[in-house]
Amino acid sequence: MSTANDRPEIGPRDIVFDCPTCQKSMVVDEVAEGLTVECPGCATKVIVPAKPAKNVDIPSPATTSVDPRLLSLINKFKELHTQRTEISTNIIARLNDVNRQMVMLARLENAHQQVMQEWNRVLAELRPAHTSTVGSPTSNKP
Ligand SMILES: [Zn+2]
Repeated sequence: MSTANDRPEIGPRDIVFDCPTCQKSMVVDEVAEGLTVECPGCATKVIVPAKPAKNVDIPSPATTSVDPRLLSLINKFKELHTQRTEISTNIIARLNDVNRQMVMLARLENAHQQVMQEWNRVLAELRPAHTSTVGSPTSNKP
């Protein structure tokens, strides 16, 4: 039996994230982390976020009598893992902010271009009137 394969297989090396503009879900290889990719849906340039920290198996003592050195190592391990997760989460949140602001910047640039186009159009409308007045043969030099 074959299942409908309408979405790409997500492997362990893939980063899955949403486009901040159109919310389209994107899947890229982890090598693209931190790079800018173009959303296939709306062509927004998006920075690929870091992969969320994967769940690490925290070693747990199998026996009741555990060497205190091992216990201390397990605690260190847990602490490091918590800090790593926290920082990864922060990075992802900040990248999302950056992405949102890049979307806003792109919108502002579009608006800026529209204003410039309008400016040029108005100038082009005004210019022939001026040139015809200046270039009219009735103008006399004193
Ligand atoms: Zn998009």
